[in-house]
Amino acid sequence: MATPKRRLKKELEKAEKELAQVLAQLEERPDFGLGTGSTGVFSWEMALARRERTEEHIAMIQAALERVDRGEYGICQTCGAKIDPERLEIVPCTTECAECARKG
Ligand SMILES: [Zn+2]
Repeated sequence: MATPKRRLKKELEKAEKELAQVLAQLEERPDFGLGTGSTGVFSWEMALARRERTEEHIAMIQAALERVDRGEYGICQTCGAKIDPERLEIVPCTTECAECARKG
């Protein structure tokens, strides 16, 4: 089984690749005037939203990696309980146990 750190690093790599892709997409600015029409603008706005989401994701992964270094990874930040390893495999950067996440 992969250690949390390795899993997070892999996740980070994936997210960074995605960010690079989105940034490349954003480089090609749509023609807001005549020509490409609204679809170009639309997909550009989609890419903007995706960039925001991806950047948030990267920040979450980096925060999780810091928690690994501090020995706090896998501990619920709300109730202090250990987070189910299965849950960590599905959502590696979570900061809450399933119970607290459910309560919101
Ligand atoms: Zn909890």
